[in-house]
Amino acid sequence: MRLSQYFLPLLKETPKEAQIASHRLMLRAGMIQQSSAGIYSWLPLGKKVLDKIEEIVREEQNRAGALEILMPTIQPAELWQESGRYDDYGAEMLRIRDRHDRDMLYGPTNEEQITDIFRSHLRSYKALPLNMYHIQWKFRDEVRPRFGIMRGREFLMKDAYSFDLDADKARVAYNKMFVSYLKTFARMGLTAIPMEADTGPIGGDMSHEFIILAETGESGVYFHKDWLNTDLITDIDYDQDLQPVVDKFTSLYARADEKHDPDNCPISAADLMVLRGIEIGHIFYFGEKYSAAMGATVSGPDGKPVPVHMGSYGIGVSRLVGGIIEASHDDKGIIWPDSVAPFGAAVVNLKPGDAVCEAAAGDLYEKLMKAGLDPLLDDRDERPGAKLASMDLIGIPWQIVVGPRGMDNGVVEVKHRKSGETVEISPESALNKVLANDIA
Ligand code: ATP
Ligand code: MG
Repeated sequence: MRLSQYFLPLLKETPKEAQIASHRLMLRAGMIQQSSAGIYSWLPLGKKVLDKIEEIVREEQNRAGALEILMPTIQPAELWQESGRYDDYGAEMLRIRDRHDRDMLYGPTNEEQITDIFRSHLRSYKALPLNMYHIQWKFRDEVRPRFGIMRGREFLMKDAYSFDLDADKARVAYNKMFVSYLKTFARMGLTAIPMEADTGPIGGDMSHEFIILAETGESGVYFHKDWLNTDLITDIDYDQDLQPVVDKFTSLYARADEKHDPDNCPISAADLMVLRGIEIGHIFYFGEKYSAAMGATVSGPDGKPVPVHMGSYGIGVSRLVGGIIEASHDDKGIIWPDSVAPFGAAVVNLKPGDAVCEAAAGDLYEKLMKAGLDPLLDDRDERPGAKLASMDLIGIPWQIVVGPRGMDNGVVEVKHRKSGETVEISPESALNKVLANDIA
């Protein structure tokens, strides 16, 4: 992409309304624009990152055996009346009336909708296990939308729903999602801590919130210091028994502050750390709650109908954009992990119009493009300082800077955004270094 042909409305000033780094940086980097409280447009750079995150989530859901579907954003009130949540959900639900005076709502989540799909088609345990997910916009009329897209009113969520014959089988489904979440977040460069969460009134349910550590997190987290050096999950065989893997991770202490009891903490004070966390995912086993209320039953091996056991599994796809920035930035701007970076490399031409610089920058740009790195060419007519600052701001992993002084000596400058490493080498060596992702 040539920056002169792109839409990247960078802000020089720090927006006053933004209280946390990710919100500030997303506005300054021209990623989003507020439409109304908690509702945002995604501009080209933001949309690109959002798509990359979404794709990682999708790939890992597919690998774990979940099937992608797409349910609507607008749902009929009747479904929620059946489950009893139409009244319970309260003011967070955006209620809509259509031209025929039918009560509708903008979905805050989709348990009812998916249960309706299930009961319309499936009657036998032989169809199980089944896990279906979608990646769809949700609306929750949050009391305090804030921190940009981190707590929005409209936000993109991946929500999966599992169906099993009994609680033991449901645990297998739960464990698959548990482990796949660790891998999903690891691919984004994040260490996510699964934290035992409230399970509501029905005892014996399982629930974990996945949180990443960040000063600006909304909840306090007490955790074992070994969380800071656990191995990230990179490879999983979903056919094996995952319980030992889950046990290994859940044996390391992690609790939200309201669930942490200092008098009965199983680990020593020396091992205990407290920091703040951002919730990026939440998995839940709730048994027959919706299936019983909505008549989603299957006949078991003995021919008797039983309500199906369900779980639901959310990931805050749009929240992750902010979460990753909270976890990875400095005072100059965003530092994207390679896997979600909007562009793989930037070629900065410090002197557009100069024949030598143009030729060298254009050549590097073409070669990076051919190599599939999706480069950005900064060919704007701007001050060199402003160009370099904006590349730091938008956080592209590699920058190759082409300027007239360097070209006189046959060199360009290569900068690695994360490590700060800077070297002056020939354009060819620069290309090789970037393509090899060769960080000193
Ligand atoms: P929170 O406690 O942060 O309100 P929640 O428990 O209401 O979250 P879930 O219903 O479990 O959230 O939704 C699944 C995921 O969707 C959450 O883990 C979070 O990452 C994301 N999410 C929830 N609410 C919002 C929001 N208002 N804006 C952006 N993402 C959200
Ligand atoms: Mg909430």
